[in-house]
Amino acid sequence: MKISAKTKICMVIGNPIEHSLSPQIHNAGYEKLGIESDYVYVACNVEIQNIADFIKGVRAMQIRGVSCTIPHKIEVMKHLDEVDEVAEKIGAVNTIVNENGVLNGYNTDWLGVVIALEKVTSLKNKRVALIGAGGAARAVAYGVTQRGAKLTIYNRTIEKAKELINEFGGEAYSLDDIEGIKNMDIIFNATSVGLASNKNETPLPKELMTNKHIIFDAIYVPYETRLLREAKQQGATIIHGMEMLLQQAIAQFKLYTGHDAPEDVMRNVLLDNLITKEKKYAN
Ligand code: NDP
Repeated sequence: MKISAKTKICMVIGNPIEHSLSPQIHNAGYEKLGIESDYVYVACNVEIQNIADFIKGVRAMQIRGVSCTIPHKIEVMKHLDEVDEVAEKIGAVNTIVNENGVLNGYNTDWLGVVIALEKVTSLKNKRVALIGAGGAARAVAYGVTQRGAKLTIYNRTIEKAKELINEFGGEAYSLDDIEGIKNMDIIFNATSVGLASNKNETPLPKELMTNKHIIFDAIYVPYETRLLREAKQQGATIIHGMEMLLQQAIAQFKLYTGHDAPEDVMRNVLLDNLITKEKKYAN
């Protein structure tokens, strides 16, 4: 045990939070870099009505960093000292850094999207189809348009797709009008269709995917969704939701510690955990 009175605390908050893999990946990173006496990362279940008190606690206890997940990403914003321009534009903070008592809010979700995509392709002038128009979709819309891609959003509720397009540019369609997705370069699923609770569902008919597509699913439980399995069968290039989770955490790691995160170690921890979970569901 290397924790001492000098160890700085980082944490993830959410409700529920017990499923979070953030403590495992951040602590594995600290250990790999030999900074596990400097930082420790824990998880706290914080109810939404307690967020103001929680932030007072962050100030009082001089917590170094806070990762925010559902339902806190929007509500937390009004309690911070500064929210950076990107987080303001996306409308959500997933990262708080305490700089000597000043609480700064950032968003690293969009980096999770673009870094994972840019390992496979450049985004400039690519046609990106985004299925979904909720919180995750906002980070995707910001990220891909920021990198020069052309955006088309498909959503069950067309009004929400139109709202996002008004902010980020592009075209909006309902899910009933999805045929045109065949002509896209990249397809990103930012809906909850295909999550473990409805793992036999998919947001996109298999026959609309080809070997020219890059298909990215935000969902990471199950590790490989029906959408990704079928995309693979069609010869498409696939990107797992785990990569978004990993890359947004890597950006947080740098903000909290100032160190470059050990990507491979953190990816392996995530993979181990997600594949173990997958086996549990299969049984
Ligand atoms: P939201 O609740 O904000 O948005 C949900 C979206 O899914 C909406 O566009 C909604 O459409 C659509 N949707 C829900 N049910 C259906 C359905 N039955 N048929 C068609 N569309 C449906 O959720 P988030 O944006 O926060 O999360 C979306 C997904 O992204 C989740 O699966 C989540 O796990 C994943 N995620 C992954 C992250 C990662 O790091 N890999 C990070 C954050 C999220 P409508 O507008 O019509 O209601």
